[in-house]
Amino acid sequence: MTSTLLQTRDLVARYGAVEVLHGIDLTISDSEIVVVLGPNGAGKTTLLRAISRVVSTRGEIELAGTNVAGWTGARMARAGVGHVPEGRGTFADLTVEENLRLGSLARPRRLRSSTQADLAHVYETFPVLANQKRCVAGVMSGGQQQMLAVGRALMARPRLLLIDEPSLGLAPIPTRELFEVLARLRTDWSTSLVIVEQNARLSLAVADQVVVLAGGQVAAAGPAAELSDGDAIKRAYLGEPAGTEGIGAST
Ligand code: ATP
Repeated sequence: MTSTLLQTRDLVARYGAVEVLHGIDLTISDSEIVVVLGPNGAGKTTLLRAISRVVSTRGEIELAGTNVAGWTGARMARAGVGHVPEGRGTFADLTVEENLRLGSLARPRRLRSSTQADLAHVYETFPVLANQKRCVAGVMSGGQQQMLAVGRALMARPRLLLIDEPSLGLAPIPTRELFEVLARLRTDWSTSLVIVEQNARLSLAVADQVVVLAGGQVAAAGPAAELSDGDAIKRAYLGEPAGTEGIGAST
């Protein structure tokens, strides 16, 4: 039986006086992969920021049954909400291992003694990082840097990992490799994921739940298997005319 990890009700987010999310209801279960699709400016990045408490919000938000609406971003991070922002946020002048060690600082102090074991776990998840642990991050390829960004977030042992446009700027093969790993994180790291992504075909293939945002509101939401067969998703995101076969075969 799955249990609810995060729930928002009527979540509103604003930048200054400008309201960008207009009442989002979202439920994320344990070990679930949620993909957020939507046109530019729909509010996808803001939804991740609202969940990780780095933008001003109104409405209800619960993490494992606890009301976290008043929490700061740092407290959310300590409670196990990891955020890989668009642009990755890794430190180009630091080595791979230095970047990873920084990730463990987001974790509560009492858990930090296991940094070595977590490093080994990250290296197992991303062998390419193990091979380059002493390289400075700035010389790595885009795909490797994205893996590093995810690996750094994993060092805090998140229960919920928010990833903003992981495929941005990556070629098709590194993108596919990255998504293969992302799909395994729920079991390998016991984490739920919310992935904002433009590559609808690939992200729908790994998603349990899809949320389509438009104009700061939920335009459609539901199980990925049902929604990706729907005509609206096919037309808007998969470049297929309505009524053609579903995704999967060609991903
Ligand atoms: P994209 O796919 O282009 O990244 P998005 O769906 O992630 O778009 P957001 O980045 O969440 O959308 O932006 C939603 C709206 O909020 C847009 O109108 C954007 O201009 C505005 N916005 C985003 N960040 C800020 C900010 N820091 N200050 C003011 N307005 C912002």
